[in-house]
Amino acid sequence: MMIDNSLLQSWVLCETQATMRYHFGFGLRGQSAPLLAGRAVHAALAKWLTGHLDEECLNAFDAEYHLWATDNVSPEDRLSYPNVSAIVWEFLRRNPLESMSFRVVHNEQGPLVEQLLKIPLIDGVEFAFPLDALVQDKQTGLYYVLDHKTSGNIIKPAWLSQWHLASQLTGYVYGAQKALGIPVAGAYINAIELRKLPKSNYPCAVHGVKYRECRLLHCNFQMLGPFTRSPGHVSMWLSTILPLTEQWKAHTAWLHFRQADGWNAIDQLPFLRSQGLFHYEACSNCPYQEWCRAERPLDVLDSIFVRQDPFEYLTQKESSPLDTQNESA
Ligand code: SF4
Ligand SMILES: [Zn+2]
Repeated sequence: MMIDNSLLQSWVLCETQATMRYHFGFGLRGQSAPLLAGRAVHAALAKWLTGHLDEECLNAFDAEYHLWATDNVSPEDRLSYPNVSAIVWEFLRRNPLESMSFRVVHNEQGPLVEQLLKIPLIDGVEFAFPLDALVQDKQTGLYYVLDHKTSGNIIKPAWLSQWHLASQLTGYVYGAQKALGIPVAGAYINAIELRKLPKSNYPCAVHGVKYRECRLLHCNFQMLGPFTRSPGHVSMWLSTILPLTEQWKAHTAWLHFRQADGWNAIDQLPFLRSQGLFHYEACSNCPYQEWCRAERPLDVLDSIFVRQDPFEYLTQKESSPLDTQNESA
């Protein structure tokens, strides 16, 4: 069995939400622009980290996003193809790889970029996560996980400060140490704001020219961190994740047992706990909100939702590893 940080976040929040998503695989129909734009930006950044030309980085972005976004996203949307590609281009122009304070770590297979890592957590359960890159500080020689994040607004203090203790980063640091056998001191967040760039003829109060002339100056990129993870932080994380994983394993075993016993496991859904009701904003951010409001009718599940592999984003990395043959040093 495989788990990831998102599964455990959902399990902590609401038993029903986690079961719907991670046991039965119910997801909303249609593809999400934030998800696909983020995936395309990652593809470009994987090329950036492995020394490719800016044009090659942008080609990787285009291959993932151009056609889909042109057909599905309004030209006025912040996630339109012209807007996001302009931001990616500006990122590459402002951030030559040589100017970074770190270098990408290589092992015998090539650069440690865009990899799926897994470590055993408890008996029969693996913790999996996507490693965007492992980097080494040029001055101190310390190793860090590098994680790319795209967001509509990275300036919000709550968004910036969440990484100091985030379970996701602690899991990546601990997991990278275990999987690669390298001491990892913490993590960087490469934050890229996918905001709508101004393009009107109105004068910009900051730059004193028309917005359409200074629009790229309004791009916002921040290399946040490093966010360190001490043995104490890892110990806090482990003492929490291990019992949570045991609980999830027992819960899914119970669902399988009911099924084997002649029950339809889906019949259990209306009786699962709903801790989300007690968390601020949990239900309003939940994809199952309308279904819960309708008191969880079972006969509409397959018409509202589509069955998806919740770990598709991980298995994709496994099936299409970065082509290291063509990487330049
Ligand atoms: S809407 Fe609320 S109660 Fe229902 S599954 Fe989502 S978080 Fe749980
Ligand atoms: Zn301006």
